Amino acid sequence: MGGHNSGDHKGHPYVRNLIGSSKNQRLENNGHLSPKPIRKRKINQVGLTLMVTQIEYSHPLNSFVMNRLPLFVIFSLAFLPATFSQITDPKATEVWSPEPRVVTPGTGALPPSDAMVLLDGTHLKEWMSAKDSSAAAWTLQDGAATVKPAAGDIMTRRTFGDVQLHLEFREPTVVKGEGQGRGNSGIFLQGRYELQVLDCYQNRTYSNGQTGSIYKQSIPLVNACRKPGEWQTYDIMFTAPRFNKDSILTAPARITVLHNGVVVQLNTEIKGTTEYIGLPKNMAHGKGPLKLQDHGDLVSYRNIWVREL
Ligand code: MG
Repeated sequence: MGGHNSGDHKGHPYVRNLIGSSKNQRLENNGHLSPKPIRKRKINQVGLTLMVTQIEYSHPLNSFVMNRLPLFVIFSLAFLPATFSQITDPKATEVWSPEPRVVTPGTGALPPSDAMVLLDGTHLKEWMSAKDSSAAAWTLQDGAATVKPAAGDIMTRRTFGDVQLHLEFREPTVVKGEGQGRGNSGIFLQGRYELQVLDCYQNRTYSNGQTGSIYKQSIPLVNACRKPGEWQTYDIMFTAPRFNKDSILTAPARITVLHNGVVVQLNTEIKGTTEYIGLPKNMAHGKGPLKLQDHGDLVSYRNIWVREL
């Protein structure tokens, strides 16, 4: 601004003159610069009195260094972090605590040692009617629970937040109906968010309503359906939504789903509750049950286990 630096006293034209004249005087008198460490002068200008501190040094090199001292300091500080961040010991970045506890993995799709088994095919004690909390009335046969049309949805007595969930389902061998009418059921996480179960083997329906979709919210990446009558797997990683103390949604639910070992949802953001008509809603809630849908079709389930995360 204006050709000289207003923050530097030496840049001021009056000060420059003073320094210049004093230097000339001393050169005339002595033939070279003599040491004159510090001098204070008063400058009167338009009624203002400025006190100027003037520093001079005998050797031109000293003056060169001192004039640029602030720059040297700034450069030195800029390189300080880089100097100290150069860690050379590999042990310096090893973290030993906490140590993850030991879990014995299951063979194949069998539950790991720390899983909670929700359906082993021998009883329905973990389940109840979603309508009136009475005993779950689905059909137990051959190690699987099958939808009993009109018995209604069933849900777990326990509630869950973030989970890893494994389950297996089988579409009816006798194919009937089409679109949403063929082997329809569903997995409702926290009783609210539906991962669609449908027979989409050579059966077209709307993409965000087919097998592996987050119903009416997220289309699956691929269609990995097996034929009707074959057992299929879902492996689900679910992060529950977060709400603050004012019931405002601060982080949406997220879900990753493998269908028959194939990724169909990858860290998908869940927009809110599953709605058949209209838009998803986000009402604050805590943990919720796992719910299985009775859509009137004879879909079977087996080997359901969950790990709370
Ligand atoms: Mg459904």
